[in-house]
Amino acid sequence: MAILDEFQDFCVLECSGCKQKKRTKARKDFECPKCNRKTSLVPRCSFQIDLIDNTATTTASISAELGEKLLSMTVEDIFDITCTKQQSLSLNHVHEMFSNKIFEIQLRKSSWGSSNTTNTTLSILSYMEKQHTPESTTDRTSKKIKPLEISEVQVTATAAAVAPSNAPGKFEPPTPTKNV
Ligand SMILES: [Zn+2]
Repeated sequence: MAILDEFQDFCVLECSGCKQKKRTKARKDFECPKCNRKTSLVPRCSFQIDLIDNTATTTASISAELGEKLLSMTVEDIFDITCTKQQSLSLNHVHEMFSNKIFEIQLRKSSWGSSNTTNTTLSILSYMEKQHTPESTTDRTSKKIKPLEISEVQVTATAAAVAPSNAPGKFEPPTPTKNV
């Protein structure tokens, strides 16, 4: 797992009423046509993150609290640095946190498009550092999890399949993306 694009915007501004993204970096009150009233813009953390396994790199988006947690910053700080001060975020602590670590990631796949083109985005629902000790005697549910042969970030269908059974299980199973 890595953030390869350090110069992306790490947050977006959205209407505090309808949560619609606005293509602006000026944080001021505006007349929202959808809400039909004057609302304020609030920043929301959102950025692209690259998932790397043995064979491929997949780009997924991560947003809101999960993104803030990953960057160890609040969205107000992120907005202040990237939009108000127009600086790039210092990601050294994030690179360090990711180095030589394996993460189990749950992804949600969303598709849209017309009849001949389909766009697919992956969003991260959860991420968890994978511990190097494969068996835990105290956790009986871990016995159900197959040992992993792949030693890098688990993405797509595999990631969901190996997620602990106590994780939220309501998400539809992601379809494999390797054959896209
Ligand atoms: Zn609105």
